[in-house]
Amino acid sequence: MDAARPHNGINQALQQQLNLSLILRMLWKEGTCSRATLSRLSGLQRPTISNIIRDCIQCGLVVEQGLMEGEKGRRSIGIAINGDRYRVIAVKVSRRVCSVMLMGLSGECYEKERFPITQQEDATITIANLRTHIAQIIARNPQCQVLAVGMTVPGPFKRENEEIIFVTNLVGWEGVHLMEELKKLGNIPVFVGNDANAAASACLWKSGNQPGTADLVYIIAGYGIGSGIVSHGRLLTGSLGIAGEIGHTSICYDGPKCECGNRGCLECYCSALVLERNLQSRLNTGEASVLEAVSGHLTWEAIQKAIRGGDEMATREFVQVCRYLAVGIVNLINQYNPSKVVVGDLLAQLAPDLLLDTVRTHVCSLVRPSIWENLTIELDSMEEDPILLGAGLLAVEQVLERPAAFIPDMPR
Ligand SMILES: [Zn+2]
Repeated sequence: MDAARPHNGINQALQQQLNLSLILRMLWKEGTCSRATLSRLSGLQRPTISNIIRDCIQCGLVVEQGLMEGEKGRRSIGIAINGDRYRVIAVKVSRRVCSVMLMGLSGECYEKERFPITQQEDATITIANLRTHIAQIIARNPQCQVLAVGMTVPGPFKRENEEIIFVTNLVGWEGVHLMEELKKLGNIPVFVGNDANAAASACLWKSGNQPGTADLVYIIAGYGIGSGIVSHGRLLTGSLGIAGEIGHTSICYDGPKCECGNRGCLECYCSALVLERNLQSRLNTGEASVLEAVSGHLTWEAIQKAIRGGDEMATREFVQVCRYLAVGIVNLINQYNPSKVVVGDLLAQLAPDLLLDTVRTHVCSLVRPSIWENLTIELDSMEEDPILLGAGLLAVEQVLERPAAFIPDMPR
């Protein structure tokens, strides 16, 4: 139990904050609602709803949006979260690129930029660059107030002390206390989470909890392999917040040693970095491919063009990586029994149809027919980057949970 909260009963001030959070979450989830609808959905009386909405309008957190069809056919004034005044900053750290987005409380993208992370770059340099980019975005947007920063990292992340456990192929991130490092941003609170969990949350939020998304696994198939697991509509995080680290489940007990300490981890056989390495190894042995022209400096554009153009060597290596991905997915299916598996990130973008066909064929051959008949495997179709959106949602969820802690004008 939260030590800051009383163990027996709650006082009036806390009750008001809980009701405020409840109404804001409803508006966030449902979109524009009338006061009558909020009253019906929440069970709170109309005067209570009116008081909460009045306070929220005063501090600019919600706006009235004209007449809408209300309860029992009556026309009522629509209420919605105000996307203009308050915003959050979403940050996605990947192994090669860092993305920063200024985001509205309802997920709108107002500004987005990326900067590269060079190979062997130390975490201190990336974090310093990040601070500069965030400060520049804030300076360019003086008309809005940035309430919080939500950030995702690609490796196992320990929520308890906000510490990165380790990230393969990134230097100097192990044990980094991100909250401490980013405190130099000023008074803006920073919230950090794992990238796959953020993508799963974004997927769930975008789907509006539609049937079929209550038990879902989102797989990030990029520079590393990770998964976010949603079970009965809730994200599974585990005791330390590292549940779903599928990249570090072994698929070969005496396989190569992984940076995590285990042997034969899925990530040793399947990732965008592994594909790049395998292609270069083939080229080094003199195997024929259109990629010979860029040997030594392979790019994703060149690899994508080779696979889509039917280059035999590039296609064979890509399919091999997809087969290993299927093995990882089967392990997840047998552990968590999802009804839907969504695959996203770099590998899924390289050759979507080929990846999906290969994965579906191999998963189908490795699970019981009754499991296969109740399973959907699809590619991520979100327009936004789900990890970046999920990073922003990390911050928004905190704001909606305790609005008075973030907005000084909010009545307490
Ligand atoms: Zn490992």
